[in-house]
Amino acid sequence: MIQIAANCVGCGKCVATCPFGALSIVNRKAVASAACTMCGACVSVCPMKALSLPATGAAKKDLSAYKGVWAFIEIADDGRSQKVRPVGFELLSKGRELADQLGEELCAVVIGDNVQNYYAELSQYGTDKIYAVNAPEYHNYNTLAYANALITLIRKYNPSVVLFPSTYIGRDLSPRISSELFVGLTADCTGLSIKEGNLIQTRPAFGGNIMADIKCPDYRPQMATVRPNVFKKVVTTAGRMAAVVEERIALPVEAGKVRIIQTQMDPVVQDQKLDEAPVVVSGGRGMKDKEGFELLETFAKTLGGAVGASRAAVDMGFKPKEKQVGQSGVTVASKLYIACGISGAVQHVVGMEHSDVIIGINKDANAPIFNVCKYGIVGDAKQVLSKALEQLKK
Ligand code: FAD
Ligand code: SF4
Ligand code: SF4
Repeated sequence: MIQIAANCVGCGKCVATCPFGALSIVNRKAVASAACTMCGACVSVCPMKALSLPATGAAKKDLSAYKGVWAFIEIADDGRSQKVRPVGFELLSKGRELADQLGEELCAVVIGDNVQNYYAELSQYGTDKIYAVNAPEYHNYNTLAYANALITLIRKYNPSVVLFPSTYIGRDLSPRISSELFVGLTADCTGLSIKEGNLIQTRPAFGGNIMADIKCPDYRPQMATVRPNVFKKVVTTAGRMAAVVEERIALPVEAGKVRIIQTQMDPVVQDQKLDEAPVVVSGGRGMKDKEGFELLETFAKTLGGAVGASRAAVDMGFKPKEKQVGQSGVTVASKLYIACGISGAVQHVVGMEHSDVIIGINKDANAPIFNVCKYGIVGDAKQVLSKALEQLKK
């Protein structure tokens, strides 16, 4: 809770500042309630300098001791086989740029069983070093075991930047690690750059109305998550092998609290993954009904693609939330993206604009979707798709 010193004169300036209504004046002194989140917003407004945040135990760090840009590499497991999730290569590619700007090493961090199978593949993205925790007990993802392994590695090697994929696993793991290390974490970054030695983490804020640049100048490592398909994969060192550092880290006792008996994929997630599909056919409110989406399914299957949806279509129950493309859904970067009956709101477009070729089908010639399309078809989406399907079948 915020600390209030005895020199408080009860002026009340802090009360209006608190976004959580945690301050009040009692007997001419400021008093804080349990609603205080220690956000620190009130500290600077006090003319008496009577407000301060309690010491956290995390003393300001000697930043020069922290070197290296790390990317956490997630291993995808569909219950039958394992492979590196492509977002890992995207993090390494962006990480290479950041490491060059900082003049530091780029390191991949991989945890699992038989991860030596991935070393050559991971080396191709400009990776200087691979830190690996490679043991059968790490075969399945376990939050407590993986978090402990990463915290141990970070405390031993002191990286300046650690990047995570914004996947179920990355979102589970990264906040656990940042809170344990008492460092910041910026989720779902859409841009990363270096300025004056700090990682500038760019992400949409206030419903996508502004882009916020976030930095953590006083603590290390700087941590961020990035959704799949936000950055491009760039092979820069094909054929070169990164140095490998394998660490043995015993499972913490708590990891035994969770035992994985069987891995079974949710059928919704299991059918072709949206963020990895080469062709995505998405439908919006303009598809009108379930039959419209059945037509999309047939069309997408004919092209070997996956079906996505706008938020309006998800809200109408045509598709589950996991299939929503956009700012609050999945980001795709397919070879071909076909938007059917979708208006082209900015929150949808940010999730698909990196696709190679975008085709829009909309009955309104002025629909904003046409601003991002390579090819636009003005017409009724169902009619256009039915005709195209006939041609494809021929
Ligand atoms: P509409 O905007 O209603 O557009 C329907 C379109 O279909 C129109 O252009 C119309 O001309 C066309 N149409 C109608 N009939 C036909 C027909 N017979 N044939 C062809 N075309 C036809 N949206 C997302 O998609 N993804 C997100 O992740 C997302 N996140 C959001 C986050 C926030 C914080 C907010 C505020 C909004 C978010 N939205 C998101 C919602 C977004 O702003 C739009 O409301 C949404 O994308 C609209 O969906 P739509 O284009 O299907 O529907
Ligand atoms: Fe309110 Fe934040 Fe001050 Fe706590 S630190 S009293 S939440 S403004
Ligand atoms: Fe007391 Fe400072 Fe708050 Fe004024 S702003 S009520 S002096 S703590």
